[in-house]
Amino acid sequence: MRSFWIFGNQLSHELELFDHVESDDVIVIIEATSRATWRPYHKQKLVLIFSAMRHFAEELREKGYTVDYHEADSFQDAWDDHFTRYEPEEIHYTAVTDAAMEKKLKQFGQQHKLVEHTDVPLFYLTKKEAVDTIGNAPWRMDRFYRQMRKRFDVLLEDGKPRGGKWSFDADNRQPPKDGLTFPAPIHFRPDAITKDVIEKVNRDFADHPGDITPFVWPVTRSEARRALKRFVEERLETFGPYQDAMLSDNQDMSHSLLSAAINIGLLTPDEVVQAAIASDAPLASVEGFVRQLLGWREYMRAVYVASMPGYESVNTFKHERDLPHYFWDAETDMHCVHQSVKPVIERAHNHHIQRLMVLGNFATLFEVSPQQTSDWFNEMYIDAYDWVVLPNVLGMALHADGGKLATKPYIASGKYIDKMSDYCKGCKYNPKHTTEEDACPFNALYWNFIDKHEERFAKNQRMKMMVRNWQGRDDDVKADILAKARQTIHDTDSL
Ligand code: FAD
Ligand code: SF4
Repeated sequence: MRSFWIFGNQLSHELELFDHVESDDVIVIIEATSRATWRPYHKQKLVLIFSAMRHFAEELREKGYTVDYHEADSFQDAWDDHFTRYEPEEIHYTAVTDAAMEKKLKQFGQQHKLVEHTDVPLFYLTKKEAVDTIGNAPWRMDRFYRQMRKRFDVLLEDGKPRGGKWSFDADNRQPPKDGLTFPAPIHFRPDAITKDVIEKVNRDFADHPGDITPFVWPVTRSEARRALKRFVEERLETFGPYQDAMLSDNQDMSHSLLSAAINIGLLTPDEVVQAAIASDAPLASVEGFVRQLLGWREYMRAVYVASMPGYESVNTFKHERDLPHYFWDAETDMHCVHQSVKPVIERAHNHHIQRLMVLGNFATLFEVSPQQTSDWFNEMYIDAYDWVVLPNVLGMALHADGGKLATKPYIASGKYIDKMSDYCKGCKYNPKHTTEEDACPFNALYWNFIDKHEERFAKNQRMKMMVRNWQGRDDDVKADILAKARQTIHDTDSL
């Protein structure tokens, strides 16, 4: 007989590996405590993975597969037990992306006969195809995305982009209007399996960060399908225009909240894309959403595969400061940071622009170590895996790779955060002030960053205006701003 090992982020009935399973083969699923402690993962992340694994095992048994499910201290313990019982000739598995897991598999493969299967449809491209498509650095997402649209024939008419342009990004940056509301996403109630897992995580992982309840995430394919249906029917319409907007106490807006389910295989990216295309939503919203999955998600994965190992330690600006306590307790007077960290503590998620414009921007301007920042993202989010965290944090948000992934650093002053959110209305600081007592901390630090990296960005098409703006200021004005920036960095913990 042969064993087919399925990992906790590969819970898809569409895995190609199932085409090879015969009646005397056994499916192996391992809930390993050691893996759950590689990092202090948010409690809800552990609940999601363990509960989804247990549900998936049940579904496979109902389909007639023999499933050997282990709750074990380590993968090795589980395999020792499995070998004693079944003595498999071969171990089949689906290709993994994360470098650490791949390394473990290689070690495992020194003692056992391993057979790898493709990870399509968990991704559109295999790892090799991803690297071939992305080409050499510096990489560019718009180029990659156009190739993907053509290759998979998505939103094309006669070989041309539907609506006459490849991207409606420029239409997708509307600031939030007063009184704006959005249809709510579905929240799921924990069933008996999830309740058991919550009890286990509370007991065995009590020192991990984050609240464990309310736990509202989909843990089965059928729940994830319901979430997708609600999204495309009721919420996608407003996804486009307000993609870059942020509202206090509305952490969902029109975001799909599907990343957690997609990243563990409950939904394939292509079925999500097809559901969006089949919806009645306006083209700008549909294209904006398709771009996230067919474009950004595949692009990030390609960057990761093309640049590991090595990418994890990039630090172009040599930033070494620590993340402040409020990344764990949300206790800060900076209302934007409070509003962005709170949902992470409460349910291991916030939306893209909070991650980018507030938290990533904070880490860049406050000169926080990129590795500490990516560790925090890796540990605190329900949808986090190395392959998606490292490019998003180190490349897109922090520009720590020096521009391999994106043309410019994503930095924003308080004035821009004020434009794109309602956060500043409830804040102790004033987004219009730069050096005054009540000045928004982001403002002086924004110019501090431009000052320090003036030379690097003077010729950058998208940065040179800001550099010139800075260079045109009087020396004493600059000195005041830089003094305020030094003070702000010094006071980081008490802001
Ligand atoms: P939506 O806004 O509804 O987007 C739709 C889908 O597109 C998402 O579900 C996701 O699958 C995909 N997507 C969109 N943008 C990206 C992107 N940049 N990279 C990869 N997929 C994308 N995404 C993760 O899945 N895991 C992470 O750990 C993660 N960390 C991030 C860290 C930073 C600093 C930044 C800037 C972005 C990060 N992202 C990450 C990307 C993005 O923020 C999340 O995918 C998104 O917020 C998930 O919520 P959603 O499902 O409501 O997404
Ligand atoms: Fe954030 Fe500054 Fe606005 Fe306060 S004033 S919410 S710190 S951007």
